[in-house]
Amino acid sequence: MYSERVREHFRKELDSIREAGLFKEERIITSPQGAEITLNTGQKVLNFCANNYLGLSNSPELIQAAKEAMDTRGFGMSSVRFICGTQDLHKELEYRISKFFGTDDAILYAACFDANGGIFEPLLTDQDAIISDQLNHASIIDGVRLSKAQRFRYRNGDMQDLEEKLKEAASARFRIIVTDGVFSMDGNVAPVDEIVKLAEKYDALVMVDESHSAGVVGKTGRGVTELFDIRGQVDLITGTLGKAFGGAIGGFTTGRKELIEMLRQRSRPYLFSNSLPPSVVGAAIKMFDMMDQTAELQEKLHSNTDYFMEKMTKLGFDLKPTQSAICAVMLYDAKLSQDFAARLLDEGIYVIGFYYPVVPKGEARIRVQLSAAHEKEHIDKAVEAFEKVGKELGVIK
Ligand SMILES: *Cc1c(COP(=O)(O)O)cnc(C)c1O
Repeated sequence: MYSERVREHFRKELDSIREAGLFKEERIITSPQGAEITLNTGQKVLNFCANNYLGLSNSPELIQAAKEAMDTRGFGMSSVRFICGTQDLHKELEYRISKFFGTDDAILYAACFDANGGIFEPLLTDQDAIISDQLNHASIIDGVRLSKAQRFRYRNGDMQDLEEKLKEAASARFRIIVTDGVFSMDGNVAPVDEIVKLAEKYDALVMVDESHSAGVVGKTGRGVTELFDIRGQVDLITGTLGKAFGGAIGGFTTGRKELIEMLRQRSRPYLFSNSLPPSVVGAAIKMFDMMDQTAELQEKLHSNTDYFMEKMTKLGFDLKPTQSAICAVMLYDAKLSQDFAARLLDEGIYVIGFYYPVVPKGEARIRVQLSAAHEKEHIDKAVEAFEKVGKELGVIK
């Protein structure tokens, strides 16, 4: 029964979230996603906080492809993949994903959260060990929890610490090193080249979550294995269709043939959750067509990021070095990060200030995400707003 006792409990919990300043409000957008968006207040702002890295979220080509897929394959599948939820389009998309990453095979999920949630439990037992970067995404942490494997955690990108953990895990049957490709708060790339070397030395498998790196990192956006020239050397890659790759929905795991085959047999979010809709799958195939034709979007994204970093550094802002499209403008103070972001919104720039516990204590920041959808004048406008507010709040001189 939803009694006063139960109600009171959750009211108090919610109050304490509010009092801690951690209550998440949602800003409401009334336009499609893009460089310029409209809020329900009527305000038009420039968006620098979307994962819309390639500017494809409102791509006319993808919308057209989605419509065509809906016209020819319908709206929904009303089935999981292994009953009657697999169309030719799903198989084609899985093939295209593996071609893109240079892997053997791929398997689709409703989201990367599911890909990560369903990857460890089917492949590993209590005889095995998972060695995970401390800053890995929440979905990896949940996936690890769902498996019976022994758990080890190494400091972010710290290869010495990783090596120690590999030694500690020496008696396990299999070891797997797990890392995000790009870490979402700093924008740094995991040293996957060194990870692969350690994996060889200590007989471990490697899994990389390319959610923030696929489409972004590497000359043609093939992700960290392109950046480090180690295509084919990472055993498992997970990723999302919800960021650079169109931004709708969908996730995938791609990698070694037998591992993907095992996931198709045993991965619970794959077996017990609905098949992706034809519109999303058809648009994703079109998106990979576009990726195969040209790297223009990557070139524009990389030059936009360099341009922003250069301008901001010149103004005297303190930015973390980035190897992605994520730029962390360090403010250190939590309240300042919130005031700064609010003032930027007044100036028409939409960004988010992050503070503890999302980032370490005393490392509050504004995270700026660049996109190929941004034109130079958008970035200039953002930098001008940063300069104005930065001076006003005493962050720069
Ligand atoms: C965004 C993200 C996910 C979740 O992807 P969805 O497809 O939105 O579920 C998983 N891992 C990482 C590293 C991410 O950044």
